[in-house]
Amino acid sequence: MINPRNEIYNLTEYIPGKNPETLKREKCIDKIVKLASNENPIGSSPMALKNVYEYLKSGLNIYPDGASYELRKKLATKYKLGMENILITNGGDEAISIVASTFLNSQCDVIISNLTFKRYTDSSLLQGANIINVDLKDFTYDLTKILNSITANTKLIYLTNPNNPTGTILSQEALFNFFDKIPKDILILYDEAYGEYVDDDNFPKDSRHFFTKYKNVITLKTFSKIYGLAALRIGYITATKPLIEYMNKVRPPFNVNALGQVAAIGAIDDDEFLAKSHKTNLLEKKFLYNEFDKLNISYIKTQANHILIYSDKYDGNTLTSKLEDKGVIVRSFNKYVRVTIGTHDENEFFIKILKDILNN
Ligand SMILES: *Cc1c(COP(=O)(O)O)cnc(C)c1O
Repeated sequence: MINPRNEIYNLTEYIPGKNPETLKREKCIDKIVKLASNENPIGSSPMALKNVYEYLKSGLNIYPDGASYELRKKLATKYKLGMENILITNGGDEAISIVASTFLNSQCDVIISNLTFKRYTDSSLLQGANIINVDLKDFTYDLTKILNSITANTKLIYLTNPNNPTGTILSQEALFNFFDKIPKDILILYDEAYGEYVDDDNFPKDSRHFFTKYKNVITLKTFSKIYGLAALRIGYITATKPLIEYMNKVRPPFNVNALGQVAAIGAIDDDEFLAKSHKTNLLEKKFLYNEFDKLNISYIKTQANHILIYSDKYDGNTLTSKLEDKGVIVRSFNKYVRVTIGTHDENEFFIKILKDILNN
């Protein structure tokens, strides 16, 4: 019998949002709306797609640039960063894995809040790290409790801003106060996957440069969410040069495919698409809040493109499966359900189904 290493037994499989085609097959329903994975409902950046079409003309027989030179150059110019401070990754997910495998082993404690992104837990467990879980307070990161949970072995603290799945944010002031109190030998992975959706002046303005003042902070960004490039798997982190150098040794040589690189280069300048995505999200968020109020559904006010809701009639799993039976795919988080803010048509369909379920 062949056994995996011990850490593997601690992992649970990641269950992604159900694929619409799978649901169609299983339930024999023709209209499916997927509001489960926080994808951009209005599509992909047209400037990104243009670069992809262009690239395809020359074929796919050549390995991508393992160093993602052009994309790093583009990011460096746009955001006034050094190229040596950027690491391009196969989506934010790979960034999380690379951070964990570069810095964690079984002697490390990591601090992860309850009700946040699951990949932090799995990537840490894979390294054999010990996880310290901290509850949220009012659905927001409890920075005081996190500080009080630090041990002599603490190596890494994960923060998501805005948080997934709650959509709540930490202000720049709260964050900097927190960073000021963290010992310099503890890393912070600051995950801003949904940063572009925020509509609040207190949100940090320049997270890509956090490492210049706080050398222990690694900032994560992705093209999967507002830029609409989830299918291509592309994201990046910014950090000090020595940290990037360590992580570069861990990263697979051709971790980011060529289409992802050229797409991201196009997306970065697509201000129009960004503005349109942001605006749609705000309008539709208001629409959903209003409908939830009418239906007596409770929700957490969100700064991201997803809303955490709960009903006193059904727990999260029950509500999720009832919605799925009628063609709406959402994500369950125990008591709660997380729903991605869709297009107006998608949201109307979701509300109509939700109404049916609640009235039965
Ligand atoms: C979606 C998401 C990511 C990264 O997603 P990728 O598609 O791998 O780039 C990272 N962190 C959080 C909190 C997310 O929700």
